[in-house]
Amino acid sequence: MIFDKEVRQADTIAIAGHIRPDGDCVGACLGLYNYLQENYNSLFDKEIHLYMKDIPESFMFLKNSDKARWNFEEERQYDLFIVLDCSSADRLGEAEKYFSSAKRKICFDHHASNSGSFADEVVLKPDYSSTCEVLFEAMELEKISLPIAEALYLGIVHDTGVFKHTNTSEQTMCIAGKLLSKGVNSSKIIDGTFYEKSYIENQILGRCLMESMLVLDGKVILSWLTRRIMELYNVVPANLSGIIDQLRVTSGVEVAVFLYELEPQQFKVSMRSNGLVDVSKTAMFFGGGGHKKAAGYDAGGRLHDVINNLLAGLEHQLAEL
Ligand code: 5GP
Ligand code: MN
Repeated sequence: MIFDKEVRQADTIAIAGHIRPDGDCVGACLGLYNYLQENYNSLFDKEIHLYMKDIPESFMFLKNSDKARWNFEEERQYDLFIVLDCSSADRLGEAEKYFSSAKRKICFDHHASNSGSFADEVVLKPDYSSTCEVLFEAMELEKISLPIAEALYLGIVHDTGVFKHTNTSEQTMCIAGKLLSKGVNSSKIIDGTFYEKSYIENQILGRCLMESMLVLDGKVILSWLTRRIMELYNVVPANLSGIIDQLRVTSGVEVAVFLYELEPQQFKVSMRSNGLVDVSKTAMFFGGGGHKKAAGYDAGGRLHDVINNLLAGLEHQLAEL
């Protein structure tokens, strides 16, 4: 493994990803957590801790997902802190506290917006589909057990939209094949964690599509959820995945935008591009990040102001095409 020596030398290790973790983030964190526990901790002489909260329910079948913790009261200094799928320290949420105090910091990521300087060592592969793909390359194939393979496969499936986004390369498919050879049940992971939705998730998806608007000459599609509506349907952010993807496949659209209210007047903005517009540029302008075709940021203020500011940015980018 790339950082074999560092892991061997460390007695205490923390692993964390970004807040509101998606499939790639959860898959990478649990893939690495299980890899280190199984291959580097046979005598249990190391303390290996995983920091993650709000893991979507459908991912909880992954081994050791119940070991994730989210408590920062104790004063701690980890020998090694490994950050996954996260392009800046502020995306760690409260885990930033232990990250800052750690003796050594390593990051594995694939976000082009990662500055490459927020950890001591950053393994950054912007052309890889997912952090799970980056991690796979850093691991030894014979040390990857079925639970590790399941976690990595789930991450690749989610960040590639089930192998359909253009970030899916020949290498991605080869890696997925190697993970399948470990015994991964592909359709269980794809159907059970990507396509399956609860009744309420389908209802909220339907509502967002029904209320969506085409703007900027039909080049941008926009939909949003306020706190009031989220409370009415009793949904949390983890219930909203997939809405943006359905908006994006509207014909004629270059960019899909989906916003939801995290706290009063605090919005999470997600964007998807069909290729012509680099949405990571817009996201970075507003303090966020991501990839050319998938990016996001947090925005404070009134919904209409957030939308107007964003549309002005997108209009500017569309005008340059
Ligand atoms: P999503 O729209 O699925 O939340 O995110 C799309 C992509 O943009 C992901 O790669 C995600 O990590 C990145 N992203 C979303 N929100 C933010 C943000 O607030 N800051 C940064 N740096 N990246 C974000
Ligand atoms: Mn990712």
